[in-house]
Amino acid sequence: MQASGCWVTTGSGNRLLDLTSGIGVTSTGHSHPKVVEAIHAQSKKIIFAQQNILPATEASIKLIQMLKTIMPTNLTRYFFCNSGSEAVDNAIKVARSYTGKPNIISMHGGYHGRTYGAMSITTSKTVYRQTFGPWPSGVSVAKYPYCLHCKTRKAAGGMDFSISPRVPGVGKPYEERQCCGYPIEDLENLLQTQSHPSETAAIIIEPILGEGGFLVPPPGYLDALRSICDRNNMLLIFDEVQSGVGRTGEWWGHQAITSVQPDIMVFAKGIASGFPFAGLATRDDMFSKMTAGMMGGTYGGSALGCAAAVGTLEAIKEEGMIPNAKERGVQLMNGLMKLASKYPIAEIRGRGLMIAVEFDGPPNTANKVVQEAFDEGLILITAGINQTVRILPPLCITQEEIDIAIDALDRALARVF
Ligand code: PMP
Repeated sequence: MQASGCWVTTGSGNRLLDLTSGIGVTSTGHSHPKVVEAIHAQSKKIIFAQQNILPATEASIKLIQMLKTIMPTNLTRYFFCNSGSEAVDNAIKVARSYTGKPNIISMHGGYHGRTYGAMSITTSKTVYRQTFGPWPSGVSVAKYPYCLHCKTRKAAGGMDFSISPRVPGVGKPYEERQCCGYPIEDLENLLQTQSHPSETAAIIIEPILGEGGFLVPPPGYLDALRSICDRNNMLLIFDEVQSGVGRTGEWWGHQAITSVQPDIMVFAKGIASGFPFAGLATRDDMFSKMTAGMMGGTYGGSALGCAAAVGTLEAIKEEGMIPNAKERGVQLMNGLMKLASKYPIAEIRGRGLMIAVEFDGPPNTANKVVQEAFDEGLILITAGINQTVRILPPLCITQEEIDIAIDALDRALARVF
């Protein structure tokens, strides 16, 4: 198998347009020359430089300098590790250690990883947890706004949710979307019935829900979480593993929908274009109650990973991939809106190149779409427990490639429906 840019060629010579970026990983496209060169050059200097034994590598210093220019302004401290799950586990550790409180609130439908800590706060599908219990305790799960299926909204007379991307430049303005208020009520209730604020260290949330279906929360929702955390002395953690690093047309997914900032932010996937690398960024004071050595790991902050991340961030900046994600996202949404007039599409949602199409169809519809699309030369994946297909191509995808994708998807949908 070989790949370059948005295209994967299988061993049997089948050429496929990758609309998954390997679940949001190959953000700069497959084997971007800049990333390949950064890894190659670093491998000739030093491959393994243990971060607790040797001084910091030039690559890690450069990465921190670059991260400082793109991070939410209040996040100034970093910890590097190897996977999103590991980063999430460490975010939980920091939150518990800093606040001295045991409990974590996560969101219904959230996915945070497969290690025991991350799995304990993951509720996007039972398959990630079944037979592995008991899970670590101290977790409560609040409702994440899923407006398309919101019973409160429906009971109150509903709202026009047919084809509702509500993205700048496409469809109705996002700001016009009104939340019924139930998810915040549910959270307030949870703080009174399950996990008292005095025992709750943090709320962790994907600002745009990933594996759970690419749900964009309604306006004001993340702001409300911020003020609940502030009022109750709890931390707000944004898991930007899937939505971060330019995916949404902003450096970080939350910036596409709000101006509030988290206390801790977790990143992975797109940060190093496929090289295993992850980390967290925190407020300056967050590690104050820890002593050196409390967090770590053999491979964390690996020289090769830092180099791959530097190459990735340079490529994204120099090639204007973030504005491209925004523009191509609007093009993709508009193309999907046209398909929605021909096929049973319940909703198109997302930001930038993090877009989902939810179908109105029986179980297995989304799987069929993915299979038929594959036969048309597209790589796609499903998301969540409803009939949703997600589209998250490399941030360098071109106008022509989006056109190819829409035409191929049209042919695939014609066969499914
Ligand atoms: N958080 C989110 C939001 C994710 O999407 C994922 C991976 N899909 C993870 C955490 C876990 O990352 P990893 O698979 O690198 O452990």
